[in-house]
Amino acid sequence: MPSLRSPRGFVEWAAASIERIGRGTGVQGLAVGVPGPVDQQRGVLVNPPNLHGWKNVPLVEMLETAIGAPVYLENDANLAGLGEFHHGAGRGTRTMVYLTWSTGIGGGLIVDGNLISGAHGSAGEAGHMILDPDGPLDGCGQRGCLEAFAGGTCSHPRSAPPPPTSSRRLPTVSRHAGEWSLEPPGTWGMR
Ligand SMILES: [Zn+2]
Repeated sequence: MPSLRSPRGFVEWAAASIERIGRGTGVQGLAVGVPGPVDQQRGVLVNPPNLHGWKNVPLVEMLETAIGAPVYLENDANLAGLGEFHHGAGRGTRTMVYLTWSTGIGGGLIVDGNLISGAHGSAGEAGHMILDPDGPLDGCGQRGCLEAFAGGTCSHPRSAPPPPTSSRRLPTVSRHAGEWSLEPPGTWGMR
């Protein structure tokens, strides 16, 4: 997506799109899901592992200046989890875990009806659980994350099969005699 090549380009694209779609009527507010941890206090996208050049971007301030309305920034998997909680697979539950498996591996935690972001905005980031401290280097800077073994852009020799088409079908990562392996996606119950 050309508009994602730089934060400035994205903000200009978003403001122009809102203007075009709203036909000049303006917006009351904007919620943005971003593929990385968010510092809610400062409104900053901190360190997205799969978006190079987007480290510590003050997206809330940039977008609010561009569109003239309040902006809420949140991790994309957290927002997707909220969507499933209110309108999808999580309806009727109070506590659930949402997992998404595509370019990256993300997660959203809902506990007793509340989204849990964590002290540093990285709660539920399942893709960055460390499976092997001596494993391959991940885009986040750590070694041996689940995403480094099985994310959609993973270049490790034992890379995952193509991402599953449904969030209910996930490959299985296992280790035997010191060797990592990935089994084809199986069915993972959501509840
Ligand atoms: Zn990682």
